[in-house]
Amino acid sequence: MDENTPPPLISSSRVLFYAIVDSTVRFTPRNVLYVDGVELGAVPRLAVGKNLIDEDVFLLHCDAGWNSLGTSGSGDIDNVMAEANRRYDGLATKWIKSPYGELDVAKSIVDLYVDQRCSFCGRYHIELGASSMIEGKNAAICGECIERFHAVLINSNPDQSDAPNHET
Ligand SMILES: [Zn+2]
Repeated sequence: MDENTPPPLISSSRVLFYAIVDSTVRFTPRNVLYVDGVELGAVPRLAVGKNLIDEDVFLLHCDAGWNSLGTSGSGDIDNVMAEANRRYDGLATKWIKSPYGELDVAKSIVDLYVDQRCSFCGRYHIELGASSMIEGKNAAICGECIERFHAVLINSNPDQSDAPNHET
């Protein structure tokens, strides 16, 4: 793999197609694109990515090392590519299908999330959704386990519950 080939995943998104913005491609933005308030200009690498969790498809604007500098667009592959082709003249013929198969992608997901497993039920972050894991220094806990332990605590320690105190 050389620098002209992206990794299977960029920023938790599966690469579907990618393109190198070489000297035959000209940056001609029809609309200004802002990322965190900063205008995003020409980039050397572009990829059509699919988010692993919500499966949204969008354009990843990347540096030469395939790090995402920002994303734009949303929808299907054709729409996202068409938006990129409007920003870069000569890009339309540059798109290359990702060479990676399911196994490559699965391995990358494991590498990415290997440390992000619930320490209690053992499930991976990716199985549980983006916001349902709390990570500590050496452990992580998922939302379902938090609810389970909360219920256990309330049942075993009535003083901590919201139930009104009994008169003595
Ligand atoms: Zn859990």
